[in-house]
Amino acid sequence: RLGSGNKILQAKLVLLGDMGTGKTSLALRFVKGQFFHNQESTIGAAFFTQILSLSEATVKFDIWDTAGQERYHSLAPMYYRGAAAAIVVYDMSSIDTFVRAKKWVQELQRHGSQKLVMGLVANKSDLEPKREVGTEEGEQYAQENGMFYIETSAKTAENINELFYEIAKRLAIAF
Ligand code: GDP
Ligand code: MG
Repeated sequence: RLGSGNKILQAKLVLLGDMGTGKTSLALRFVKGQFFHNQESTIGAAFFTQILSLSEATVKFDIWDTAGQERYHSLAPMYYRGAAAAIVVYDMSSIDTFVRAKKWVQELQRHGSQKLVMGLVANKSDLEPKREVGTEEGEQYAQENGMFYIETSAKTAENINELFYEIAKRLAIAF
């Protein structure tokens, strides 16, 4: 519903996190509604767009994905430039990727804008039996760093829409 006062926001959203955590899969699940079992880590023009309509605003997402550069543990400044929102992803079945996620958050704090909307995503919730990082651990770290926390699965689609709605909602409030 495009009533009076309905804002249209264009928002650059960047994906961060170690290789293999599911960044590309999350974007593809959100944008195309599909999951690919053998998602090639290095594939991708690394750019997706999607529109979400809330009662407060319509958000046009420009989603920036890496094309494998995260293997060098840092990304070019242009990747962060102008971003309104960021998602830091780890794989809940790998403690190493959670440790590394904290490095990505620090990288974001160095390069990103002050009022960035930030989400911490524990992906691969379908691998619950192999979980290595507890919910409380993730939640606490997110809270300490001004991020919201959510557990997702690009495979089953659990919480994928919720993730992007949460970002859109926070953007609508902030801008
Ligand atoms: P990226 O390197 O962070 O972009 O990760 P990808 O999206 O390429 O995913 C790496 C691998 O993990 C691929 O084999 C995906 O199919 C798989 N994967 C991604 N998300 C999930 C998930 O939620 N659950 C499971 N079980 N596997 C996933
Ligand atoms: Mg990828």
